[in-house]
Amino acid sequence: MKYVSTRGQAPALSFEEAMLSGLALDGGLYVPESWPTLSAEQIRAFRGMSYEDVAFAVMRPFVGDTFTDAEFQEIISRAYAPFAHVARCPLVQLDANHWLLELFHGPTLAFKDMAMQLIGQMFEVALKREGKRVTIVGATSGDTGSAAIEAFKGLDAVDVFILFPNGRVSEVQRRQMTTPSETNVHALAVAGDFDDCQARLKDMFNDHAFRSEVSLAGVNSINWARVLAQVVYFFTSATAIGAPDRPVSFTVPTGNFGDIFAGYVAKRMGLPIDRLVIATNQNDILHRTVATGAHIKEGVAPSISPSMDIQVSSNFERLLFDVYDREGAAVAALMDELKDGGFELSQGALDRLRAEFDSGRCGEDETLAEIRAVRERTGEILCPHSAVGVHVAETLRDPSVPMITLATAHPAKFPDAVEEATGLRPDLPPHMSDLFAKEERVTEVSNDLSALQTLIRERLK
Ligand SMILES: *Cc1c(COP(=O)(O)O)cnc(C)c1O
Repeated sequence: MKYVSTRGQAPALSFEEAMLSGLALDGGLYVPESWPTLSAEQIRAFRGMSYEDVAFAVMRPFVGDTFTDAEFQEIISRAYAPFAHVARCPLVQLDANHWLLELFHGPTLAFKDMAMQLIGQMFEVALKREGKRVTIVGATSGDTGSAAIEAFKGLDAVDVFILFPNGRVSEVQRRQMTTPSETNVHALAVAGDFDDCQARLKDMFNDHAFRSEVSLAGVNSINWARVLAQVVYFFTSATAIGAPDRPVSFTVPTGNFGDIFAGYVAKRMGLPIDRLVIATNQNDILHRTVATGAHIKEGVAPSISPSMDIQVSSNFERLLFDVYDREGAAVAALMDELKDGGFELSQGALDRLRAEFDSGRCGEDETLAEIRAVRERTGEILCPHSAVGVHVAETLRDPSVPMITLATAHPAKFPDAVEEATGLRPDLPPHMSDLFAKEERVTEVSNDLSALQTLIRERLK
């Protein structure tokens, strides 16, 4: 299996190369050159299998010879062992024909763990074999940074530096980044906002001398390996409620389009998915795109579901590549237009998008009302991101088709919004209840490229 760039101008790579490099040299994202498929019989056999066994069967065709079967099984087993639920991501019924897929039982309580835990183990095995060491630098508004620190802490072949905006992440998120005691992880509180953190990260990747000096690597959601890991739970959940013998729909709380793109991959692989529903908060560029065909950036308005406060959905480029017949030049032209504000989809591309996807938007008051209503109807307490999903699913779903809505974070990760909606402050799960007692380790740093580079060089000695 080879990987090609969505902009058509970078060399095709193996799985290992695509995983370790992240972004393609032409600025595009890597996608498999074709979609492997599973037969209905193979999919039916997933019923009753462990999460780990399904993960192996679904991901195996994408990995090529990067890992032996035995290595890959071991990687998967180590990745999911730290989860607090033996089913890894259980289904909970919300209503007749509506289920919630709980993706928040990993170590940092958001679905980012589902992929980050796996790529931590994959990096470690691949790097050790090559005798290489890399420096991972990431910028975060909260969930990605904590998941990355948790996944890479204590591994031999990597150092991890996470830039977060000082004073602008929740206390749970900050403590998840600052309390691990392993010396290969470094939480850096930057004097600036999230955009500053991302800009400094980009500066580091553009400083080619620094990039090769420290062997810089990235693990943000444009890394193909992260999308791949998320394909698995579309199979485990759909087969649990009757696929492939009846079609199932999914609603996905969406920001960077990584999670829902994984659902699209599952469908291409043969899973009978009826509708893929994009749920956005008030930052609704993707909903407007499906509704009007115009993909136009507007400013980001901070919301109570902050992990979806985004206006450039990086992984949408992967879908554009498919709906534009895999013509890299067409995608590159659209991405140029996006820099200047946005673009119109061609009628053919829009028709293909709408053939697979529906979309809806959920405002701030509607999010709070949904958390309250679901608690009253079912006793289930949703995080604000999951509430956006449930609201949109309830508005759009066909009652005769089973709907699975993805629950992307644990409510205790966003206690203020939950308390405002319900009057109850959700507790952290028992295995994390000591989070507020642990000592924090964090370095404050100015919003300045050379100060950051000096710090990183010092720590690597
Ligand atoms: C990252 C995140 C999302 C958005 O997922 P994308 O793959 O970026 O679309 C939704 N909810 C939570 C809690 C997240 O952390």
